[in-house]
Amino acid sequence: MMNCPKVVLDTQKLRKNIRCIKGICHSENVSLAGVVKGANGIEKVNEIFIEEGVEIISSSRISHIRKVRQIGKAMGKTNFETMLIRIPMKTEIDEVVSFCDISLNSEIEILRELNREAEKVGLVHKVIIMFDLGDLREGFFEVKEGISCALEVEHSLKNLELLGIGTNLGCYGAIKVTEDKMLDLIAIAEEIEEKIGRKLKFLSGGGTTALPLLLDGTMPDRINLLRIGEAMLLTRDLKEDWGHILKDCSQDAFTLHMEVIEIKNKATYPIGEIALDGFGQKHTYEDRGMRKRALLAGGKVDYGLPEMLIPVEKGVAIVGASSDHTIIDVEDMERELKIGDVLEFQLTYATLVYSTGSADVGLEIV
Ligand SMILES: *Cc1c(COP(=O)(O)O)cnc(C)c1O
Repeated sequence: MMNCPKVVLDTQKLRKNIRCIKGICHSENVSLAGVVKGANGIEKVNEIFIEEGVEIISSSRISHIRKVRQIGKAMGKTNFETMLIRIPMKTEIDEVVSFCDISLNSEIEILRELNREAEKVGLVHKVIIMFDLGDLREGFFEVKEGISCALEVEHSLKNLELLGIGTNLGCYGAIKVTEDKMLDLIAIAEEIEEKIGRKLKFLSGGGTTALPLLLDGTMPDRINLLRIGEAMLLTRDLKEDWGHILKDCSQDAFTLHMEVIEIKNKATYPIGEIALDGFGQKHTYEDRGMRKRALLAGGKVDYGLPEMLIPVEKGVAIVGASSDHTIIDVEDMERELKIGDVLEFQLTYATLVYSTGSADVGLEIV
């Protein structure tokens, strides 16, 4: 057994999640771009996405996509495309063209560079033009500007293929994906289609937060590509925020395991003058008298946000954390906790990203 702290990946659960989301998308004639960035491009995750037949495998980072390509090659699989879902950096144009079949774009300057590079290496690179419908992260905010960009790609940038348009919601502005927003995207697409005299292949309406529309049956037909990460890796956002019951999906394909290094009865209110903690923050403390507390070897450096960890065992509550320690209350545990015991926590998207990206957190695959 591997030392803690470690993330345990349950491959069967991940496979089931992928099949479940793929089934939902395909039954609605929506193509699926599986997003692996939430698990930091773990090789086994990439391999499973490929084996399960996810048709487009995508990430925000070239380093992940390069690995997807390598693994696909080693597996002898060519049944998928790769897609970069963060707007390309000017300094990675050559890698975008050589490792990504598709990229999401919002800058004409970058598109011209992509075209030049694709021409140089004799390839046609596919692009999806992003429109910002109010979430205020990436995409053209001025619709006219975005449309003229699409027209330049179509008419002048011969080594680019205008594959479609897309939008991203629910990230910065936390804007909900609604039928209205999707209709806004469709209206833009129709304007472009009228000008270029052909249909766009893909209208990409969003990520996990777009799934409820599919499940409700309210997703307009023309939205035919979703870029899904969280719902395939954890399926937690959907269950908790949207109330949809996806009974075949597991929220614990990834779990974090940490070892107990101290168990003591302690006061619950700090003793002395309270200042700022090691991260420069001031806390409030509730005096609950003496309680049984335990320390875990693993802290914010390993998973980022203690309040976003979900203890699996009953009677375990997270009290707080510093960079390398987690303090838990174990007064209400039914069994007697021992030094050296390993406790399991379910993850949220944030703690999954941090823990799989942390150099000191091991990965155990079961
Ligand atoms: C991360 C990301 C996604 C996937 O989001 P999930 O909420 O994990 O499904 C989709 N599109 C873009 C542009 C992203 O950056």
